[in-house]
Amino acid sequence: MTERQAHRIGVMGGTFDPIHHGHLVAASEVADVFSLDQVLFVPTGEPVFKQDREVTAAEHRYLMTVIATASNPRFNVSRVDIDRPGLTYTIDTLRELRSTYPDAELFFITGADVLPEILRWKDADELWSLAHFVGVNRPGHHLDDTGLPSSGVSLMEVPAMAISSTDCRDRVRAGMPVWYLVPDGVVQYIHKHGLYLAPASEPGPLA
Ligand code: ATP
Ligand code: MG
Repeated sequence: MTERQAHRIGVMGGTFDPIHHGHLVAASEVADVFSLDQVLFVPTGEPVFKQDREVTAAEHRYLMTVIATASNPRFNVSRVDIDRPGLTYTIDTLRELRSTYPDAELFFITGADVLPEILRWKDADELWSLAHFVGVNRPGHHLDDTGLPSSGVSLMEVPAMAISSTDCRDRVRAGMPVWYLVPDGVVQYIHKHGLYLAPASEPGPLA
């Protein structure tokens, strides 16, 4: 943060393996509609729900997120999750951000695929007191807040971006372009470090 304390902070958690324009459009739209002072992108450490596949080293995911967000004065990247040892639980992320920004209102941004999973998250009952959740549409997923507390969740439409990190990884592995799906600097970073060339279950060139 720069001159003054941000009062309304968006929190965009993700594996960002790699970050793509679906993430960036969602963050930008929510920031606009909810008048957010900033959006903090928070790359996960070891994601709980992705233990079945090899996730790219946190430092690569962090740097790609920094590259993708660097030009937007309202976008920042937090290391809270990658610097905390062990599995990443959103409740721990939000508790830590709440103590760092005690006076701010937090808005946790999630895509429609993630919303139905929230009730299964660690200490789900407590999430709503730490942040307001904003669910956005995502192609292939129904945007639905059934079962979630209505005062704790808002749903909003963003321009639909049929992009996923899984698809970006598959495309790189198949020798197909990811230009315009991810920011230019991220394309260059992926190629510079030879990311996503090996099958996900095998160590990559730099692993
Ligand atoms: P993967 O395919 O590896 O799961 P992903 O594209 O789903 O990657 P994540 O890092 O898992 O990206 O997602 C972080 C957050 O961004 C989640 O809340 C997810 O729902 C949201 N999100 C990802 N892609 C989009 C998209 N195209 N439109 C809207 N929200 C998205
Ligand atoms: Mg995902």
